[in-house]
Amino acid sequence: MKKAYLILAIIFSFTACKSDKKNQSESKEDNKPETQEVNVYTHRHYPADQELFASFEKQTGIKVNVVNAKADELIQKMTEEGEQSPADVLITVDAGRLVRAKDKGLLQTVDSEALNKIIPANLRDENNQWFALTKRARVIVYAKDRVKSEDLSSYEDLTSDKWKGKILVRSSNNIYNQSLLASIIANNGEDEAKVWAEKVVANMARTPKGNDRDQVKAVVAGEGDIAIVNTYYIGKLLNSKNPEEVKAGNGVSVFFPNQEGRGTHINVSGAGVAKYAPNKTNAIKFIEFLASKEAQEVFAKANYEYPVNKDVTPSELLSSWGEFKEDLLALSVLGKNNKKAVITFDVAGWK
Ligand code: FE
Repeated sequence: MKKAYLILAIIFSFTACKSDKKNQSESKEDNKPETQEVNVYTHRHYPADQELFASFEKQTGIKVNVVNAKADELIQKMTEEGEQSPADVLITVDAGRLVRAKDKGLLQTVDSEALNKIIPANLRDENNQWFALTKRARVIVYAKDRVKSEDLSSYEDLTSDKWKGKILVRSSNNIYNQSLLASIIANNGEDEAKVWAEKVVANMARTPKGNDRDQVKAVVAGEGDIAIVNTYYIGKLLNSKNPEEVKAGNGVSVFFPNQEGRGTHINVSGAGVAKYAPNKTNAIKFIEFLASKEAQEVFAKANYEYPVNKDVTPSELLSSWGEFKEDLLALSVLGKNNKKAVITFDVAGWK
């Protein structure tokens, strides 16, 4: 008797399961649901980003497809793909590149209450075509054994004779420097910006070469006394597996310029929804997720950046440098002044 029941039960559950599957596939065809995926073109390539994408997939069931390349390549790719582009979200570093993408008509306006609430107005596009996700400060680092923080004050003070042969900074074709000069143009005017660039060139310890990390290493090697770098590179050096890099990170201290005035120059990494996004709803959900408290904690710490979400405290290392006053200049201005900055660097002879 028992055996018969068992056989019956097995037959019943098998048929139920089968018809269930049939219903599911029928309803799928009837409703033609949006593809449950989001295509992300990103310049960021940190393991923590992958972790975040995975938890977004888990929470929403939306699959994240990632295309990884340099921002300029991604912008080029989207331009070539045009209306056929599968891109839903573009993530880049530096506001200058986000503005470039907007100017090329690659992004679209997004109306999101969550993003408007979390991200301050100066850290997003005036038409909400892009949103900052993390902040970085372009600071001055100085040799602990040769310079005192009292010797430093502002970007403008770098033109003083006392820094002759002491300043290390990368070349002018780098967008971080272009954005810094764009902010100086916005704050002090073009003429003063030109004089500033000329005088910094005159104070350089060497002809610009290498990246931000190389400038810090050169300070520690004694080639110069101070360097202009983005904050997260200090975090990267201090946490490097290479002992030489750790030594370089330990040899310098961070100074936040212009605390008596407009504040330290800020830049961002950020995201926008692609103009022809096939999965627009998912794209907005994805960016909202990256701005959420949960994601910001991971996103910012992964690359030693400052979170844009005020509810999230920066990592221990960043907190140890203390709070600082930020230049609240609208970041879109950095993009608008980019061409002027490039020309000014050229005229000033900044290699
Ligand atoms: Fe960088």
